[in-house]
Amino acid sequence: MLDLVDVGERSVDSYRGVAPDQLLEQLREVSRKLQGARVLHLNATPYGGGVSELLRSIVPLLNDLGLKAEWRIVTGNQSFFEVTKAIHNGLQGGLLDVSPAQQTAYLETSRVNARAFSGEYDFVFIHDPQPAGILAFRDKEAARWIWRCHIDTSCPNRQIWSFLRPFIARFDAAIFTLPDFIPPDFPLSRIEIIAPAIDPQSPKNLPLPEPIARQLLEWIGVRTQRPLVTQVSRFDPWKDPLGVIHAYRLARAKIPELQLALVGSLALDDPGGWDIYRGIEAEVEGDPLIHVFTNLVGVGNIEVNAFQTLSAVTIQKSLREGFGLVVSESLWKGTPVVAGRTGGIPMQMPEGVGGILVDTVEECAEGIVTLVSDRERAKALGASGRDRVREHFLIPRLVRDELALMSRLAAGD
Ligand code: UDP
Repeated sequence: MLDLVDVGERSVDSYRGVAPDQLLEQLREVSRKLQGARVLHLNATPYGGGVSELLRSIVPLLNDLGLKAEWRIVTGNQSFFEVTKAIHNGLQGGLLDVSPAQQTAYLETSRVNARAFSGEYDFVFIHDPQPAGILAFRDKEAARWIWRCHIDTSCPNRQIWSFLRPFIARFDAAIFTLPDFIPPDFPLSRIEIIAPAIDPQSPKNLPLPEPIARQLLEWIGVRTQRPLVTQVSRFDPWKDPLGVIHAYRLARAKIPELQLALVGSLALDDPGGWDIYRGIEAEVEGDPLIHVFTNLVGVGNIEVNAFQTLSAVTIQKSLREGFGLVVSESLWKGTPVVAGRTGGIPMQMPEGVGGILVDTVEECAEGIVTLVSDRERAKALGASGRDRVREHFLIPRLVRDELALMSRLAAGD
């Protein structure tokens, strides 16, 4: 059996007064025809990164709505995750191909996971490329299979896309975050566009009283009396951590007491993260105003909440991005964001809402200085961002959209 991930219980009613009422009604309505439907969500890691964040909320909510949902993960060794990382990078336009030996490693692990796949489902959601090979080695049986792509696949590396494409062709439907992300020559006609969302009830996003947020950050060595900017991200070249450090140093030339925190997690399916982490450590060594924290030293959801709550500005200087949950997380706390104009980020912060979009290190530095210095503007941007998140990017909306898709697939539409 594929490993099951434990999730808690959640109640749709607990979102009353937080998410728009109308949305909660739609959620109940659309789930009515799906009572008892068996749903599997399958991905590669139970923590670290946006997908695990989403599943921890979606799965218990589906159960509360009367479906029978499970979250399982595929297993793989280091070489499998090296290949899937290469596929991930290639799908986002990276130049490196996957070698024949790597292709074999992907196929072998997919075969092992297909053998471990048991249980009967009505809907199987496969997240990203890691579990996508399974369907080549087993029957769909009665289930509808949906490939949920979380990354920017608008200009994939050709070789990598032609390797993955036949696996995707076996699915019944695909979900992308933006229409632009649909790769050329996509083999399925059934495509849905559904943006991710954040859970306002999760420990990461609950309102955190300021004294507690301060205590949490002081505890790990951040001086909360000084202005702070933070980037929360996996250690990944697309998140441009070195660009963040350069932008911060330019900004510090104007605001000498400014601190930077880089908060990153090292995930199971991300072997390259360690190299990036070491590169960052080397870059910031001896700089007392730059803090680097990881999940491995116990900086978890509640600390991320504290960082997003107390930072003057958060940074998300992505060069490529799927959605960028951290942007909505920060805006939900009223904290404006200086972010790369890429992927799902502009959808969360259209011009004049939520923060400042940037294309370069210099613009990023300028954005930081502007918002750290002009607190009124920062506050107004943060407030408009929070309104936007409430309207479009809270988890009940995401669950509603996925239920609507299941309902249409079940009806044969
Ligand atoms: N995250 C975290 N701790 C970290 C780094 C990231 O909890 O040290 C979380 C972050 O809060 C967000 C998710 O991981 O919920 C990252 O999702 P995003 O969509 O921003 O990027 P992805 O990692 O999926 O590319």
